[in-house]
Amino acid sequence: MSRGTQKEPLHVAIIGGGVTGVNLALGLQARGVSYTIYERGPGFREIGAGIAFSPNAERAMNLLNPDVLAGFKRVANPNGDDYFRWVDGYETNELIFKLYIGKDGFQGGLRSAFLDEWSKQIPPSAVQFNKHLDTFTELTGPDSFSDKVLLRFTDGTTATADAVVGCDGIRSRVRQLLLARPLSSSFSLATFPSSELPHAAHPTYTQKFCFRTLAPMSAALAALGRVRASSRHMYNGPGAHLLTYPVGDSTLLNILAVLSDPNPTWPHPHHTAPGNKAEVVEAFAGWSDAARAIVDLLPDADGGKMDKWGIFDMAADPAPRYHGGKVCLAGDAAHATGPHLGSGAGLGVEDALVLAVLFAEVDKKWREGEEGVSSRKGEMVEKAFEVYNEVRYDRTQEVVQSTRKTCDLFQWRDSEVGRDSERFGREITARFYRVWEYDVNRMVEEALAKFSDKL
Ligand SMILES: Cc1cc2nc3c(=O)[nH]c(=O)nc-3n(C[C@H](O)[C@H](O)[C@H](O)COP(=O)(O)OP(=O)(O)OC[C@H]3O[C@@H](n4cnc5c(N)ncnc54)[C@H](O)[C@@H]3O)c2cc1C
Repeated sequence: MSRGTQKEPLHVAIIGGGVTGVNLALGLQARGVSYTIYERGPGFREIGAGIAFSPNAERAMNLLNPDVLAGFKRVANPNGDDYFRWVDGYETNELIFKLYIGKDGFQGGLRSAFLDEWSKQIPPSAVQFNKHLDTFTELTGPDSFSDKVLLRFTDGTTATADAVVGCDGIRSRVRQLLLARPLSSSFSLATFPSSELPHAAHPTYTQKFCFRTLAPMSAALAALGRVRASSRHMYNGPGAHLLTYPVGDSTLLNILAVLSDPNPTWPHPHHTAPGNKAEVVEAFAGWSDAARAIVDLLPDADGGKMDKWGIFDMAADPAPRYHGGKVCLAGDAAHATGPHLGSGAGLGVEDALVLAVLFAEVDKKWREGEEGVSSRKGEMVEKAFEVYNEVRYDRTQEVVQSTRKTCDLFQWRDSEVGRDSERFGREITARFYRVWEYDVNRMVEEALAKFSDKL
């Protein structure tokens, strides 16, 4: 087709409207690429209390769409000071190590506040709620109209797109479907119940579970004092740890209690299960006054009932690839990781950045119909996903593995480091900085160069 002829632009389907899906949407929006988010819930919703975004994630937000970073900064909680402190929570209550997190770095906030800030930048016409993806089929044909992916939702409706990104979280349906089929065929899936799908990578229980809550800052200040309550602290000890940082414009203290579990399997049907404050009190009973004071801040209402969350990741059974045909995976759907390096969502933002840049390139090259460039949109999408996989796989898998090791360090389970504060400091610095110092500009350049080589 000659330059200037009207061509149907690239259209991307994003399955799932969590951090990854919404960030990808805003990255596409900034580049003028057409998309639709299909979200199974009735609206954008985040569960859980606080979340923090690391410096690499901030840099990725800025490149993705400066409005994403601006939205983040609008509701991010100010740091009391720019250090992450680890304390012996078990015996001495003394500082083990402190790490500089950068000026206004690694800021936390309420999950819901971040998602609200971002999702309000998405026009209603670009999102469909109550759309639970059931299956997809790759259509193949001689022209651009049949070179699409057909999506089927559980309500019986269908939609088509040129490319599909599964941002549907740790229990991703897209991952199940994608990995259950050969890599490069036009294999067509009929409606498969999950139970009948061949084995695909899946999340496994890390033998850790957690309790998450928000305590009023007035109570936290009374229990812990200003320094402890106003900046990021972790209380380490044998087989458990506590993490605290301020959120909600410093009106609340976010508390995460992580407990090791001798049981190899999570006995509950869902990742969350009914729990009770009494379990946490018991787990930290022999710990320092400070650790017990934090546990005391957990809610007493309703007999201390609290959900507990099994921590799952994909370290033991990783996805061998993040793409197949015109479908790919991003965020937790691709590489779910534990919370211990505070970086799972940040990886999703990095994924979104690479994908947004590559989709913009596909759209441009397809519309311009540059000479020597494949005329089929679908082929270009497939090549873009190959590049995405090449650029993202090692980086994300390394963080998943490192996160497990980091939790061992926090809980004094690393036989070489144990309670040696000097070695702990060295290990922790190396692991956090390796995540934070990742060069997102280089990642983008590498992706563009690889894509250009493939065309
Ligand atoms: C306790 C804890 C603390 C954490 N702290 C941090 C932190 O401080 N910093 C950090 O960077 N990361 C942190 N993480 C990790 C972070 O929460 C996740 O990496 C991130 O939320 C994943 O976002 P996502 O958009 O990929 O997936 P999700 O947030 O799971 O979103 C998936 C979306 O897809 C939708 N969906 C699912 N299936 C379908 C379907 N079939 N059809 C349509 N829609 C579907 C869901 O409704 C949901 O909206 C933490 C995790 C935990 C458990």
